[in-house]
Amino acid sequence: MNRCLSILVYHRVLARPDPLQPALPDARQFERHMSLLKRCFHVLPLSCAIGRLRRGTLPARAACITFDDGYADNASCALPILQRLGLNATFFIASDYLDGGRMWNDDVIAAVRHARQPVLRLEVPGCDALQVHTLHQKQQAIETLLQALKYLPVQQRQALAGSLVPNRQEELMMRSEDVRALLAAGMEIGAHTASHPILAMQSDVDAYADMRRGKTALEDLTQAPVQLFAYPNGKPGVDFDQRHADMARLLGFRAAVTTAPGAAHAASDPLQLPRYTPWEQDRPRFLLRLLASRCN
Ligand SMILES: [Zn+2]
Repeated sequence: MNRCLSILVYHRVLARPDPLQPALPDARQFERHMSLLKRCFHVLPLSCAIGRLRRGTLPARAACITFDDGYADNASCALPILQRLGLNATFFIASDYLDGGRMWNDDVIAAVRHARQPVLRLEVPGCDALQVHTLHQKQQAIETLLQALKYLPVQQRQALAGSLVPNRQEELMMRSEDVRALLAAGMEIGAHTASHPILAMQSDVDAYADMRRGKTALEDLTQAPVQLFAYPNGKPGVDFDQRHADMARLLGFRAAVTTAPGAAHAASDPLQLPRYTPWEQDRPRFLLRLLASRCN
């Protein structure tokens, strides 16, 4: 039987809605997603689902839940909901940001959120005068800045984004104890590199070293093998390619997930499994999107 596996990807689950980031679910919305998922799908731990996909023993309407990056709200907001509903999830963590680090995209959002003038003047190519008076302008400015910085070399990107927010900002990423708590709660931990570079823009040596450093750091922290991997950004042919899938295999990962949309099949490369984001915020569309990607 050629059954499919739907793998969902989340990043953050906010304690309360953030008008600047309307695509991010808050806890109430996430709980609705998860309740619906539990009613309509057979939710499995990712490592278990991958084995069953290969052996052809997946149940009908199989789904997995994954989170990328390692945001603290995964442990504080999402975990209690998952536990209440008896659902398992896999958390892919970029190890450099644990214990007080900040990802560059959060500096961009903070710069726009705390802008004191209606026009934000930044030394970022193509973004020297961004209108940030209305909410819509702020959302647009964030999008413009994220696109302008995303594909810059990793050091330059981090430095530029960091320069946008001179003051110390709120801690957003997990601490080591959060990772241990997720594991103790029966959740799975996966690697997501150390510094979250766009692998395709790195030299092979640097890409491999970053992937390895992320895996080792999490294994040291959890004292357990880390066998699942998520490519940063994750678009095949853009953010990573076959070289990085080969590196993942060499490093001993059993499976790796991308952000190519769609469901995984028995014939899918276990080191390039597609995932999708349930963007739609209203229930029927969320359900529709899930159902559309299943095969039985
Ligand atoms: Zn990521």
